[in-house]
Amino acid sequence: MNLPDGLAPVAEGLHLWAPAHTGTWGFANCLLITSGEEAALVDTPYDRVMTEALVAAAGCLLPAAGGVRTIVNTHGNGDHTFGNGCFPGAEIIATKAGAEHLCHEPSPQQMHFLTHQTPADQPLGWYARRHFGRYRYEGVEAIPPTITFSGRYELTVGDVRAELIEVGPAHSAGDLVVHFPGRAVVCAGDVLFAGDHPVHWNGPLTNVVAACEAILALQPEVVVPGHGAVMTPRDVQCHVTYLRELEALIHDRYAAGRSAGEAAADILAGGFYDQLGLPERVVILTAVEYRHLDGDTGEPDLVALAARAADWAYRNRGDD
Ligand SMILES: [Zn+2]
Repeated sequence: MNLPDGLAPVAEGLHLWAPAHTGTWGFANCLLITSGEEAALVDTPYDRVMTEALVAAAGCLLPAAGGVRTIVNTHGNGDHTFGNGCFPGAEIIATKAGAEHLCHEPSPQQMHFLTHQTPADQPLGWYARRHFGRYRYEGVEAIPPTITFSGRYELTVGDVRAELIEVGPAHSAGDLVVHFPGRAVVCAGDVLFAGDHPVHWNGPLTNVVAACEAILALQPEVVVPGHGAVMTPRDVQCHVTYLRELEALIHDRYAAGRSAGEAAADILAGGFYDQLGLPERVVILTAVEYRHLDGDTGEPDLVALAARAADWAYRNRGDD
């Protein structure tokens, strides 16, 4: 799977396991916090193989007396939480809204079904195998948080102070970001993506913009996105511009009476940020924005949204 064999230093006591691999799903960044005999992890990888690779890569960064005893989940998506079970006894911290949202997340069993039991020659089965077939969902148990909060939560790991700040609903129902005040670092979870189009299941886009602006207001020098390369505040500003442009394009088409599918196809045909990977995510972003414009307050169906993106990707696939 070509995973990193080391962690990159971000600031004193902070090291990043960054699997990179843009252009596909599931390779999330994980930040290790260490101080003295204490260690904590912001987000865990998608399966046991990846989580064991992370622990091996962390090596002597981990305290001799024991491993990771605290996990922060920035949100409930499996690519940030399914590794939780590899740290038995660890406290797992998330927002209350994120914990309540967990039951709407595809389970490891559902992901196994999607990648093995669906027809491989149909869009969803083709897409699931292409982007999720590399992960091992058998035997993975989704472990929910042991501590939940709303608003803010102060976490100390040895000498490292971290503020967990709720910024959702935005990417999901219960997003949080992790601010390290003494180090000018913010861990953004999936409020931010680098290298690919983002995906946001909850929205609306204006909430994601507000979450980005909350990150900028913390005046970080380094921002760790949920996926992709580490960002500067300027990169975050550029991403806010992306979100505002997309919001305007979607709202124009909604006002013109176009369907969500037509709007997304039209925006993509116009070459919207076509240097980014996973353009089919614009189909999901558009469908989610339309739900808000329609006043639909029900729970988003993640698999149904992914199926719409899979349809577009299947129709626009290349020769491979
Ligand atoms: Zn993610």
